[in-house]
Amino acid sequence: MRIVFIGPPGAGKGTQSLRLAAARGLVHLSTGDVLRLARARGEAAGLAAARFLDAGELVPDEIVVPLVADRFADDDCRRGCLFDGFPRTLGQAEALDGLLADRGVPLEAAVEFVIPHEELFLRLAKRGRSDDTDETVHARLREYARLTVPLADYYERRGLLRRVDAVGAPDEVFARVSAAIDDLASRAPRSADPSRTP
Ligand code: AMP
Repeated sequence: MRIVFIGPPGAGKGTQSLRLAAARGLVHLSTGDVLRLARARGEAAGLAAARFLDAGELVPDEIVVPLVADRFADDDCRRGCLFDGFPRTLGQAEALDGLLADRGVPLEAAVEFVIPHEELFLRLAKRGRSDDTDETVHARLREYARLTVPLADYYERRGLLRRVDAVGAPDEVFARVSAAIDDLASRAPRSADPSRTP
């Protein structure tokens, strides 16, 4: 199974993806983690991404897409993959379609985490990550609205989107996310994916 999580910084995508990936035996493919790791290892792509990461800006597609393609090519991703924070632009969504088509596997679900901005600022203040300054949070929310929200429409047109209320205790949100995915998976064309379990 392949699932995409869409949501602004601080919406709880990271927490929920770890849980969902563990519960369903999926690889957790977080582009934020992949980028931070590439940077920590001093890889060229990581170093090229550094100034965007520090500014809270989206890293250009030309850097992000090859990193995702590399990770997605790993054998463990055959059992299924949860994309956390990818795609974030329409260009990335199209690139993901290409990766999936090359593999001959479908995308079963896109989940958008819906949360008011005031709640996000409260959560990000608590998280205290070095790229979570007021200024970068504003920048990321602006970029999110401009580039990422159209993605929800992209998946909605294909009948793949569920919007989930991301306010509440992690258990509650997890139950909503799980229900949304089960609902979408029950509608997915069965013949398209031989690895899909009943
Ligand atoms: P995250 O860990 O998802 O909050 O991402 C942290 C930072 O990594 C973001 O602020 C971006 O600078 C960068 N990033 C993560 N995923 C992407 C992506 N799909 N496209 C571009 N930049 C990304």
